[in-house]
Amino acid sequence: MSIRINVDGQMGTEEDRLLSALDQGFLFGASVYETIRTYDGVPFVLERHLERLRASAEALGIDIDVSRETLTERLRATLEKAGNAESSIRIVISAGIGAIDYRTGSARKPTVVIIVRPLPAFPESLYQSGAKAAFVTVMRASRGNLSPKIKSSNLLNNIMALRQAHEKGAYEALLLNGRGEVCEGSMSNVFVVRGGAVATPPLSSGLLEGITREHVIEIARANSIELEEKTCTPEDLLGADEVFITASAREVVPIVRVDETTIGDGKPGPVTQKIMKCYQVHVRALMSTTETVD
Ligand code: PMP
Repeated sequence: MSIRINVDGQMGTEEDRLLSALDQGFLFGASVYETIRTYDGVPFVLERHLERLRASAEALGIDIDVSRETLTERLRATLEKAGNAESSIRIVISAGIGAIDYRTGSARKPTVVIIVRPLPAFPESLYQSGAKAAFVTVMRASRGNLSPKIKSSNLLNNIMALRQAHEKGAYEALLLNGRGEVCEGSMSNVFVVRGGAVATPPLSSGLLEGITREHVIEIARANSIELEEKTCTPEDLLGADEVFITASAREVVPIVRVDETTIGDGKPGPVTQKIMKCYQVHVRALMSTTETVD
């Protein structure tokens, strides 16, 4: 089990200083990223993550000059070197090395970083008993501030939100948008269940278009579970029968308490459990058609 880091094709470990201090990703937070997990050692829906990565980079004006084939080959080599049973992969593309000046064109060439580390062991209790979430005062940056299409490594807002949630003894922070609607978690998308029907805030609420969210929407459709994308107020969430969050590495996590309110009967509900089960089947079905990373 090890961490391997590949910077512009150069392989190293966490001991190596592979990045320049003049990298604008470091200086200004000018970088975008993806987190991808493996199943049986194979990255899950890599193509979709690379597509979102390119879209993020483009929205930030970073022109990725590395081909998909090169990126995939570097990822394969990094996974092989790391030798983990299961990995969490982070691909980061920064604006690159430049002047301490963020005018357009001040960086010459994007830096491409691949970090492969052992997939963290998420405790079984998280899925069996569920977790607590908390509303925080930190708001999701509005679409006018930072487009949610940019999965930016500048995560200060998310860091401050999660800190506030942790201070309240919660596992995840729930962020509202400027209109006071529920937007998303600090590292997840949010779903509520009421009367057997699932709802999740729409993209117009200003959230990241989560890939796990997309899969859950697909799963609901395929399994005749009613699911609607609609704006959600904090009261909708607090009055829900069930709440769950989604993210690539953690998959589907039941939320059984929000601040001081118990959701439903305080246990993962039947719809959440069904979606959790279907998600596993869905992943296996997709993985059976993806044998390698190239
Ligand atoms: N929203 C935010 C703010 C996130 O950081 C994440 C995790 N990257 C998600 C949603 C979930 O996205 P995904 O399902 O693609 O991992």
